[in-house]
Amino acid sequence: MIPSGICPANKGKTQTTKQHNMAFKGAIEIDTQKCKGCSVCIDNCPTGSIQLSKMVNSKGYHYAEMIGEACVGCSNCGIVCPDSVITVYRVKI
Ligand code: SF4
Ligand code: SF4
Repeated sequence: MIPSGICPANKGKTQTTKQHNMAFKGAIEIDTQKCKGCSVCIDNCPTGSIQLSKMVNSKGYHYAEMIGEACVGCSNCGIVCPDSVITVYRVKI
């Protein structure tokens, strides 16, 4: 007897494969007025998704900003930021 919901052709292998291929897409939000432009987040981003802006904040610091679409939501930047000014969002895709 084949349980309902599982295709008899692959005997449920598709479900297992999906679990192993889970991927995430991420995004970050930076409180630019509190950023001091130390670049620690940039040095610790595995996907090169952060750069220092050409613009400066009210304190005169070039602040960090997200670039591109490669962020995977790993949270490295949020963890290493000495001033905790990065919020990380992550969604399963
Ligand atoms: S969450 Fe990870 S991938 Fe995304 S910007 Fe931060 S360090 Fe980079
Ligand atoms: S680690 Fe924090 S303070 Fe330093 S540049 Fe990145 S966001 Fe700004």
